[in-house]
Amino acid sequence: MTQTVEYDYVVVGAGTAGSVLAARLSENSRVSVLLIEAGGDDDPGGALSLPPAWPTLLGTGRNWGERTTEQAFTGTSIPLARGRGLGGSSAINAMVFTRGHRSAYDAWADAGAKGWGFDELLPYLKRSESAHGRDAGARGQDGPLRTAPAHRPSPVLTDCLEAAAEAGFPRARDISSGLDEGFGLPDLSIVGGRRQSAADAYLRPAAGRGNLTVVTDAPVHRVRITADRCTGVLYRDAQGDEVAVGAAREVILAAGAIGTPHLLMLSGIGPEAHLRATGIDVVHPLPGVGANLQDHVMASVVYSAARPVPAGRNNHGEALGLLRSSDRVDAPDLQIIFVDVPQYAGAFTGPGEGYTLNVSLMRPHSHGTVRLASADPTDSPLIDPRYYADARDLAAMVAGVRAARTIGSASALDTWRGAEVVPGPEVNDDAEIGAYLRAAAASYFHPVGTCRIGTDEGAVVDEQLKLRGLRGLRIADASVMPSIVSGNTNATVYGIAERAAALVAASTDF
Ligand SMILES: Cc1cc2nc3c(=O)[nH]c(=O)nc-3n(C[C@H](O)[C@H](O)[C@H](O)COP(=O)(O)OP(=O)(O)OC[C@H]3O[C@@H](n4cnc5c(N)ncnc54)[C@H](O)[C@@H]3O)c2cc1C
Repeated sequence: MTQTVEYDYVVVGAGTAGSVLAARLSENSRVSVLLIEAGGDDDPGGALSLPPAWPTLLGTGRNWGERTTEQAFTGTSIPLARGRGLGGSSAINAMVFTRGHRSAYDAWADAGAKGWGFDELLPYLKRSESAHGRDAGARGQDGPLRTAPAHRPSPVLTDCLEAAAEAGFPRARDISSGLDEGFGLPDLSIVGGRRQSAADAYLRPAAGRGNLTVVTDAPVHRVRITADRCTGVLYRDAQGDEVAVGAAREVILAAGAIGTPHLLMLSGIGPEAHLRATGIDVVHPLPGVGANLQDHVMASVVYSAARPVPAGRNNHGEALGLLRSSDRVDAPDLQIIFVDVPQYAGAFTGPGEGYTLNVSLMRPHSHGTVRLASADPTDSPLIDPRYYADARDLAAMVAGVRAARTIGSASALDTWRGAEVVPGPEVNDDAEIGAYLRAAAASYFHPVGTCRIGTDEGAVVDEQLKLRGLRGLRIADASVMPSIVSGNTNATVYGIAERAAALVAASTDF
C-alpha cells in the first residue's frame, strides 16, 4: 500500500454529483479536494460529444455494463446502464434535462425528509442551470449548465406534440420546470450541437485550481472508519496498487445509486445479516443501505414510417409529456417521450424505419434492492429493482400504453404513420397489454433511493446528507432521493449536489 496522503475533502465518483461537489468545494482556495473516479476520461469514437450518437456509448467501457437480476415479475434480466469515467452517467445519458413535477419532491418532505420539498430545493436546482428564454422565477439564469430545448427539433416529434394536443393533452409552458403537466419540448444538455456533461460544465473550468486533484482509473473499494469517524478511503490505482488517502474533514460519496451502496456494504456499512452472509465484517449496521431501489420502468409503442424520418440531429427524444394514469391519482405518474427512431426491447422485432412513443412509469410503488454478490469489489452488485412487484404499477402502465396509442393514431401523424408494429394491433385487452409490458420491460436508467434521506430506522442519511451514526461521511448523489421523481433524474441530482456543496460550505470548519 502506498503512503497516506491527506486532503480536506475526498469525493468518490466523478459523475453528475461528484463533478459538482469537487468544483464547488474547490472554489474555496483554503481547502484541498481530491476527486476519485473509477473510470477514465476517454471519448469512444467521439460519441460522447456527439448527441445523436449516445446509444452507441452503451456498448463501450463508458458503461459499467450491468443487468438486473432476473426479475420476478417479468421473467427477464434487463440491461441497467450507468456511466463510468469523468462525467459519470451525465457523459453517456440521453441529455434530457427536466425536473420531476413538484409533487414528487413534496412527497419527500411528507415522508420525513424535512426541508427537501420542492420550494426548498428550488434555489439549488436553479443554481445549476442557465435556462435562458425560460421564466427566471422558476429557472436559473446563471448556473454552469446551459440548457435549452432542441435546436430545430425533428418534424416527426413536433407532429407528435400536435397529436398529443389533438388527443386532448394540454401544452406545457415549460415541461422542464417541475411546475407543469402536459406535453412540450424539454430542455436538453446540448450546447452548440455538443453534449454538455457535468465534467464539461463543472470540472473542466475548475481544472487549473491548485487545490483540486482529480484521479481517474481508480476504483475505491473501501471507506475507512476509525471508531465512529470516517477517516479516508482505499482505492486501486491504474497499476493495481492499493492507495490510502485520508480526509481531514469529510469523505463525500457520489458513486451513484448503485455504486454508493455497493461501496458502503463492501466497507461493512449496511444490513447486518446480509453483510455477515457475504463474509464482510460489520463496521456500522445500517439496514437501509441498498434498500428502497426505485427506477422508471419503460415500454414502447413503435410505428413504421410511411415516409423517411429525417436523421436525428439532437438526442432522438426531443419532445415529451407528463400525464396521469387516471383521474384518481393525485399527481402526474406517467411520461410519454417521443423518439425519432424505432426503439424496442431485444425480444421484439421492429420496423427498419419508424418512430416510437415510449411510455414510462414515473411514480412506481415497487421497491427493490442493491446487494453484494460477493465480498470481491470487482464483482458487480446484485441489482433488483423488482419492476411491477406492485400490481398498481402494471395497471398504470396499461393506461400509459392506451394514452400513447391515442396520440399515435391522431390525424397529426397520418402522413408519418405506416402501422403500429410493436406491440401490434393484436395486443388489445388489459391482460394482453400487461403481458406485453412484462415481456418488454426496459429500464429508463434512472436508479435512485438506495441511501435515502430521513430520520427513521430505514434512512441512511439525515437532512444534512450525513450518514446516520458516523462522523465525517456524507452522501450526495441519486441514492439519497427518498423516492423517485416524476422526471428524468439528472437535473434533480444536480440540485441535490448543489445543495450538498452548500451544506458542506456552511460547516464551521470550511
Ligand atoms: C444511458 C443513460 C441515459 C440516461 N438518460 C438520462 C436523460 O436523458 N436525462 C436524465 O435526466 N437522466 C438520464 N439518465 C440518468 C442520469 O444521468 C443519472 O440519474 C445521473 O447522472 C446520476 O448522477 P449520480 O451523480 O448519482 O451518478 P453517476 O453520474 O452515475 O456518477 C457516479 C460516478 O461514480 C463512479 N463510481 C462508482 N463507483 C465507484 C467507486 N467504487 N470508486 C470510484 N468511482 C466510482 C462512476 O464510475 C460514476 O462516474 C441516464 C442514465 C444513463 C446511464
